[in-house]
Amino acid sequence: MAASDLINLLGLIDDAKCFAFVRQHRWPSGVRCPVCDSSAVIRDGCDDTQPCRQRYRCKACSGRFDDLTGTVLARHHQPLRVWVLCLYFMVLNLSNRRIALELGLDASDTQAMTEQLRAGLAAKAPAVELQGEVEIDEVYVVAGHKGQPAAVAKRGGSGAAAGWQARRAAAGLRRTSRRSSA
Ligand SMILES: [Zn+2]
Repeated sequence: MAASDLINLLGLIDDAKCFAFVRQHRWPSGVRCPVCDSSAVIRDGCDDTQPCRQRYRCKACSGRFDDLTGTVLARHHQPLRVWVLCLYFMVLNLSNRRIALELGLDASDTQAMTEQLRAGLAAKAPAVELQGEVEIDEVYVVAGHKGQPAAVAKRGGSGAAAGWQARRAAAGLRRTSRRSSA
C-alpha cells in the first residue's frame, strides 16, 4: 500500500473516536480515579490542546486526571490517532521502518513509540517468576533446504537436528534428575 493511501487513512480517523476507544478499554465499567480507584468522578473540562481529551476530578481524593493519565500515551506530542494507527500496524507485524514510512514519522520517533507501546502492553502481563535453577536450551534455526535437501543433509542438516533432539532429551533428563534430587 502506498504511503499516500495511509496518510488519507490518518485523516479518516478522528481523535474523538480514538479517545472513546481508550476510555472504553481503560474503564469498561465507568471512569475510576487512578489514585484512589473511586468511581465518584466528575468531568472537569477538556485538555487545552487536545479538545477530545476529557479531564476529570475525583470527589473522593480531589485528584485531577484525564483520559491518558498514567498510561504510556500520557506525555507525548503525537496525536492519539497516530498512536492508535502505530499500534494497529504493530499488530499487523509491520517493521518499525515501514511504520515510520506509512505514518510519515522519523525512524527514531517510531522506534521510541513502538518500544513504549510494547513496554506498556507488557506491563499488564503478570511478571514471570522463576524459581530454583533455570536452564535455557540452545536454539537452532533451520532456514530451509531451498530445493536441495541432499546438500543440507550432507552439511549436517538432519544430523544437527538429530543432535539437537538428543541434547534436548539429555537436558530434560538433567532437569528431571535435579528436580527429583531437590
Ligand atoms: Zn481519587
